[in-house]
Amino acid sequence: MFILFVFLFGQESDIKLDTRQQTRIELSTKFGRVIFKSPRKDSEKLVPLVLDAIRQSSKFLAKYGVNIPQKDLSITLMEGSVDHLDLPEWLKKSCHPGWVQGGDKVIIIKRRVHDCVPGDFDSSFQRVLIHELGHVTLFRLREDFWVDQEVHEGFATWFEYQVLGLTPVLTDKICSSKNINFDLSPDGYLRAALIFFAFTPSDVLKVISTAQINELKAAYRKGLSKFCN
Ligand SMILES: [Zn+2]
Repeated sequence: MFILFVFLFGQESDIKLDTRQQTRIELSTKFGRVIFKSPRKDSEKLVPLVLDAIRQSSKFLAKYGVNIPQKDLSITLMEGSVDHLDLPEWLKKSCHPGWVQGGDKVIIIKRRVHDCVPGDFDSSFQRVLIHELGHVTLFRLREDFWVDQEVHEGFATWFEYQVLGLTPVLTDKICSSKNINFDLSPDGYLRAALIFFAFTPSDVLKVISTAQINELKAAYRKGLSKFCN
């Protein structure tokens, strides 16, 4: 399954929601206090999905001895289009279902989960959220990695696969590429994730606390050889 995701830094778009149509629910989680906002009619169904995605993510981290610093986090599921939002044009035009702003605001667009992610809505929504929680995790563990989109997207994609117990299936095109060549295509995301698949999960979580970005990128070919003949 191919999915595109994105994260944004520092950009504090003021997302205005119609409060008559929205529910705001406060949740206590292993990531800290979560403010979940969603269309009123969906909240009853979605809250257990949000809690489960957070539970799965923290269970994965706990398995490798990582206690993520607890901080406030907002998760917003929006209806409608993103045309009125202050976002980069490429993001408006592409089919990205979710992103993280400033490290502590996850925004997911309901229509895009339907249109851009294959599968039923509930599991697609959870997958998008788990990917975004990967970004949140990296923000909390290594704030200085924000400068590098390859590393961030690679980590979040790796996190998503690990939490969901999925194995990447690489195309011949990826296998024949010697460089990461990060772009916003599905292949770009998977290639960036290979940086992290070069290590065992416990080593990834150790490595990100110590390694320099260039050292991490050097692991790409090792990750590539793991899944290609
Ligand atoms: Zn992402």
